[in-house]
Amino acid sequence: MGKVVALKCVTCRKTYDPGEIDYTCPACGPLRGTLEVLYDLDRLRKTFNRESLRTNRTNSHWRYLPILPIEKPEYIQPLAVGWTPLYRSPVFEQQWHLHRVWIKDDGRNPTASYKDRASAVAIVKALEKGATVVTAASTGNAASSWAAFTALAGLETVIFVPRNAPRAKIAQLLLFGARVLQVEGNYDEAFDLCVRAAEQWGWYNRSTALNPYLGEGKKTAALEICEQLNWQVPDVVIVPVGDGCIIQGMWKGFRDFYQLGFIERLPRLIGVQAEGSAPLVRAWEQGSDIAEAVRPRTLADSIAVGIPRDQVKALRAVRESGGKFIAVKDEEILQAVQLLARKSGIMAEPAAAAALAGLKSLVEQGELHEGEQVLLQVTGNGLKDIDGVLQAVSRAPLRIEVSLKAVEQALQQP
Ligand SMILES: *Cc1c(COP(=O)(O)O)cnc(C)c1O
Ligand SMILES: [Zn+2]
Repeated sequence: MGKVVALKCVTCRKTYDPGEIDYTCPACGPLRGTLEVLYDLDRLRKTFNRESLRTNRTNSHWRYLPILPIEKPEYIQPLAVGWTPLYRSPVFEQQWHLHRVWIKDDGRNPTASYKDRASAVAIVKALEKGATVVTAASTGNAASSWAAFTALAGLETVIFVPRNAPRAKIAQLLLFGARVLQVEGNYDEAFDLCVRAAEQWGWYNRSTALNPYLGEGKKTAALEICEQLNWQVPDVVIVPVGDGCIIQGMWKGFRDFYQLGFIERLPRLIGVQAEGSAPLVRAWEQGSDIAEAVRPRTLADSIAVGIPRDQVKALRAVRESGGKFIAVKDEEILQAVQLLARKSGIMAEPAAAAALAGLKSLVEQGELHEGEQVLLQVTGNGLKDIDGVLQAVSRAPLRIEVSLKAVEQALQQP
């Protein structure tokens, strides 16, 4: 038997053999029937522990290989994913009277977003299956990440992106050599089209939530946080949310480490959505476990999702953790882009800065207590969406002649 002992439907709880199914539970359908990846934790515990990690020299998320769903490690691609920096921010601690504010910068991944954690795992699963053509639908980051890994592995790649995908993400896709289909529609429409095309032509699909192994890749940031903080878990972890795969993946990571005895407690997870694209916030407030579809309207393209594909796991994760979902306005996201840049030196794309906007909102609502330790998960680099982040600044460069006089005049301007 392989490492993954079963795939379990989150709704009907039926378990499947990993060899028998690739995506979602046929009985429950793609949205309700997402699958959870199960390991034999009792067996793992014997060889995988804090001590084995202490002597592990791998500086990427592959240091957690024992608890990742990889059967053939020879298919791992040589791009350094994860083990991203974790910074402390004394400025935000003082500003909001918090004991600790940590920032984990996943813009430092090879294609500059959190999605590399999932692509790194998905490419191995695609190769294990013998795939030759692969696909994904994405607001941009998942696709550009996937295209890098599939290029390395030499697979033909067909990508579906929405009409409004930022130029830098398209540039990445084209450079990595993917066939890019820019759909005359939004992300939700691109997603459905990709699923139909994959079924029609038998392509391997990396689209979020549908593929059960993505959340496994996405859990590794949580594992890193535990280890980087020397097994002291933050009280609150704030995560930007679109489909909900990152937040549920992080919860899986914390839970795995808790069950394995690496950590003694679990954090509260706060999911932050953009107000114009907040189906999970709405479901949360209504106490519903089904998110009603919305037409997304936000400048934070990576979280512009009207039908969150990982909604069952995401809502459950936040509920189990004792956290909540909150919405922030686009203006607040833009302010956060600027604040994060100026107070922490991190240039984040708008979706990624939503975590900081969420922190500010929680403080203002009195939801956090002095003495609490908070972690912001930054999910993507600002260079990915130059037009988006430029909206966060009002100043333009001053054009001057080549003279000291012109410099002097320029310095006198406000
Ligand atoms: C994908 C993405 C998110 C949201 O992740 P989900 O798994 O869709 O919730 C947030 N920020 C960035 C930068 C992303 O690329
Ligand atoms: Zn089911």
